[in-house]
Amino acid sequence: MKLFNGMNVLNGELSISGVRVGDLKKKYRTPLYIYDENLLEKQCRIFINNFKSSKFKTEILYASKAFSCLEVLRIASREGLGVDVVSLGEIYTAIKSGFDMSKAYFHGNNKTLEELAYAIEVGVGTIVLDNDYEYEIINEIAKKNNKIIDVILRINTGIDAHTHEYIKTAKDDSKFGYSVYDDTIFDLIDDINRQSHLNFLGFHSHIGSQIFEESSFFEAVKVVMEFSKKVQDKLNIVIKVLNFGGGFGVYYTDADKPFELAEFLQRFIKVIEEESENFDLNLNKVIIEPGRSLVCNAGSTLYTVGGVKKTFAGREYVFVDGGMADNPRYALYKAEYEAAIVNKMDKEKDTVYTIAGKCCESGDMLVMDVKLPKVESGDLLLISSTGAYNYSMSSNYNRLPKLPVVFVKNGSSRLVVKGETVEDLLRNDI
Ligand SMILES: *Cc1c(COP(=O)(O)O)cnc(C)c1O
Repeated sequence: MKLFNGMNVLNGELSISGVRVGDLKKKYRTPLYIYDENLLEKQCRIFINNFKSSKFKTEILYASKAFSCLEVLRIASREGLGVDVVSLGEIYTAIKSGFDMSKAYFHGNNKTLEELAYAIEVGVGTIVLDNDYEYEIINEIAKKNNKIIDVILRINTGIDAHTHEYIKTAKDDSKFGYSVYDDTIFDLIDDINRQSHLNFLGFHSHIGSQIFEESSFFEAVKVVMEFSKKVQDKLNIVIKVLNFGGGFGVYYTDADKPFELAEFLQRFIKVIEEESENFDLNLNKVIIEPGRSLVCNAGSTLYTVGGVKKTFAGREYVFVDGGMADNPRYALYKAEYEAAIVNKMDKEKDTVYTIAGKCCESGDMLVMDVKLPKVESGDLLLISSTGAYNYSMSSNYNRLPKLPVVFVKNGSSRLVVKGETVEDLLRNDI
């Protein structure tokens, strides 16, 4: 298992930011989500410090669907980020965290009337329109509230980012956004721009997630800018804001080769500056929206090993006290992870195991074929890089209570989300 910033081994035992992982089991419980707060802050700062331009304003939004809770949003806000929200629940969480809602962007391909009304009432700064169903509704709500709402339109560039089928978002038949190759888009933009209570600012494009090829991002910039230029010329509308989404790839296993983030961001800005000159755009603001790359590597999940079982066919299973309810990503995407036995970090890794959860599904796997030292019941197993799309995708399948979340920093730990109890599971049962 790759040791990220803040992870250390002392006397064969793993610690994160000066906290012995074994102590976290004693103090809290397993399974448990653990985040290294220093690493969260570091990632925020890499984005803020490297995605800067003298030609236009820049803004980093935290795509909060990756991991939304009050404390992580407080950190994002404190570090100077804005926030990307996609539901009433995410808006509500952001408000309760104290987020300046003028720095919130409301996304989604099917925002409900209730969500839109709420977003406008609480002052969400910008609404990202996905389709022609939305703009008239928003205009009506804005009229009623006597407000003028900033909007940008999500466009689909048709760029094939080389990533998993389910996390590509810009193919020509994607459910997200409006294709730039569909000529009716000009009428749509013209209509949006005519609405009395909408302030049309520009475009948003997000080509997918867990992307490692810089060229995909650069290509998207070009397509978006070329299109922006066309719109300016054809409709006489000034494009002021462009949002290029997130999707920056991260390390899960040594099969992933992410680019060095700080350097990439500097190259990215340069491409954006150059292309905006090529296409004669006079941009006011350029935005990106990382989710995974801000939080993924800062998070790990700690489990206690129960049974260790060899099947008739020869596969050796390690069973842990969580599974697809706290991390559905193997079941969804066959996502890969690294793992380690926290209390045996110095021991030779001589056995190949499959780590399986406790849920009643054959697909309830966490890691296939990982080399570990000889595993015994009671060992503590840590899966790294679970900071994104784990807590936020977790469920109560099999009536498993959701896990607590603990932040560690410089030798101390604190609970930021309580674990659910079985009583919590009955909270809404009648
Ligand atoms: C999910 C999403 C993001 C963040 O994607 P990551 O791969 O987590 O960086 C950004 N923008 C939009 C619109 C998204 O849907």
